[in-house]
Amino acid sequence: RQQMPGATDQMTPRPDHGERSYKGSGKLTGKVAIITGGDSGIGRAVAIAYAREGADLLIAYLSEDEDAQQVKAVVEAEGRKAVLVPGDLSRPDHCRNVVARAVEEFGAIDILVNNAAHQATFQDIGEISDEEWQTTFAINIHAMFYLTKAAVPHMKPGSAIINTASVNSDMPNPILLAYATTKGAIQNFTGGLAQMLASKGIRANAVAPGPIWTPLIPSTMPEDSVKNFGKQVPLGRAGQPAELATAYVMLADPLSSYTSGTTVAVTGGKPFI
Ligand code: NAD
Repeated sequence: RQQMPGATDQMTPRPDHGERSYKGSGKLTGKVAIITGGDSGIGRAVAIAYAREGADLLIAYLSEDEDAQQVKAVVEAEGRKAVLVPGDLSRPDHCRNVVARAVEEFGAIDILVNNAAHQATFQDIGEISDEEWQTTFAINIHAMFYLTKAAVPHMKPGSAIINTASVNSDMPNPILLAYATTKGAIQNFTGGLAQMLASKGIRANAVAPGPIWTPLIPSTMPEDSVKNFGKQVPLGRAGQPAELATAYVMLADPLSSYTSGTTVAVTGGKPFI
């Protein structure tokens, strides 16, 4: 992936996905999880944590690369399965295929993590092409809907859906207008879905990350934002993907049986980028 002009490796520390730090304790033993965007950044940390908690995984991501193979190796080292499904989730048929593949491999789905996203920055509304606007919605919103719709019939009571929202869900950064609009919608979708699926015993929640060091940041944010990334939050730094994984584990844990329809903010003390 390209870095934005001016961004350097010094500005963007290597993401820590918890390979060394996350130790599981069997919270998700025997569960099957679909994680979109599970090859990179936050999704990758969630994949590693879920495998260490005992889950088998289907990891859906855009295109075949070394990252996905590395995640698969970590998951298999735990004695868990990782089915890799590259492909463009902006295509509804691909979303349905992802779910069908999980059912074919594992027979059921216990956890669906809708996490893949597209983001781009613009200084003015006139710069946002129709195609860019539609792509942002196709990946961030429509894929979440198609995956959820296809997965629910295969989810038993006790299953969980977790959607990745953002600090931008409540506090839109204007340079992220299209992205922030979708992130607001993810929260509303999650709240409505939780009510709709309650009678089936399926929980739906969101995680709203603050500034997190992932490949998304240097590849999409302007130089000054990258330079100051995370400096405004009380902890004084951006978070690492590994520091989010516990929120996704908590929301997937069957013991969190009364937690539904909420958003867990993981923002370093204050929802402000
Ligand atoms: P990332 O770039 O590391 O990961 C994005 C993932 O989305 C990749 O795995 C990519 O393969 C996948 N993806 C993108 N387009 C796709 C498509 N068309 N089809 C299939 N997969 C596609 O970024 P990240 O920061 O880990 O982002 C993960 C989630 O966290 C996103 O929902 C993002 O909006 C959210 N988030 C990130 C931050 C942050 O500061 N990094 C803050 C708030 C929210």
